[in-house]
Amino acid sequence: MKMAKQATKLATRQTTLSAAVSLSGIGVHSGLPATLTLHPAPADSGIVFVRTGRGSEPDREIVADVRAVTATDFATVLGDAKGPLCSTAEHVLAALRGLAVDNAVVEIDGPEAPIMDGSAAPFVDAIDRAGIRTLPAPRRYIEVLKPVRVDGRNGAFGELRPFAGGFRVETEISFSEPLIGRQSFAGEITPESFRREIARARTFGFMRDVARLWSAGYALGASFENTLVISDNQVLNPDGVRCPDEFVRHKALDAVGDLALAGAPLIGLYRSARGGHKLNHAVLSALMADPTAWRITEPQAAARRPRRRPELSTAAAGAGLAGGLAVPAFGPDVS
Ligand SMILES: [Zn+2]
Repeated sequence: MKMAKQATKLATRQTTLSAAVSLSGIGVHSGLPATLTLHPAPADSGIVFVRTGRGSEPDREIVADVRAVTATDFATVLGDAKGPLCSTAEHVLAALRGLAVDNAVVEIDGPEAPIMDGSAAPFVDAIDRAGIRTLPAPRRYIEVLKPVRVDGRNGAFGELRPFAGGFRVETEISFSEPLIGRQSFAGEITPESFRREIARARTFGFMRDVARLWSAGYALGASFENTLVISDNQVLNPDGVRCPDEFVRHKALDAVGDLALAGAPLIGLYRSARGGHKLNHAVLSALMADPTAWRITEPQAAARRPRRRPELSTAAAGAGLAGGLAVPAFGPDVS
């Protein structure tokens, strides 16, 4: 794979966490408790999951990569040939990718990441507590060079397309319940926009599916604490939604997490309609399977004027920002 070089405003150096930080909770599907600890990691190591707490069995390690996906039914499950390792990895992955953390070890002592409140916000808060550190190593991006599309049933599709200068998500959902109806989200994903527009959107589900999910072993840990529950065109959670289009924003959150399994930040546009984990994974797999559809790009610092306030050029590129310093966590549209 040839390395392309381009001059852009994109952040040019890798990041990791400044310190370790932990969260504890239960898995939304398994209902099992788990503690997840995010650790700093060296440059070029990417996001690596380490499953501990396996009794006499040794810890298992797996690089968060599109090839490590073992299931996509109702959640994205990472594993290897020996079986699943960590279920519901997508929200912590979304937080890491959304805040532009390139390298981290995700240690988890149970079979499923804790669902917390059903959004990525608790993981964002944890990353903010730890802080983000810029590393000397250059950041490499995966640049989409030509459209790759996967069609599903009932008009569902997902595609990655070239998009200069960053990572953009456009997603649309359509449900018969007027409460949701047709919703769309479109925006470039930067640490600021991820925090403001996406991170707090929670998992949602329909009461009508609960019996089927439970009998299949899913949603055993779901509750009003971690899932927006919809029945008869109403949200049953006492506090309601965080914003009217929380549903489609959560779809965007899931897409950011699932596409983090590219293993590097994307330069491209991801579009989906009626999508989900399966489609997100299928599109990313299709991209990776076609070596003419992407290339590794290493942006050159756009401003070769380092003596003139270089700290501002870093901030503008949205990387290396210590948590909590950049912007208010959430804008008024997601309150
Ligand atoms: Zn989700």
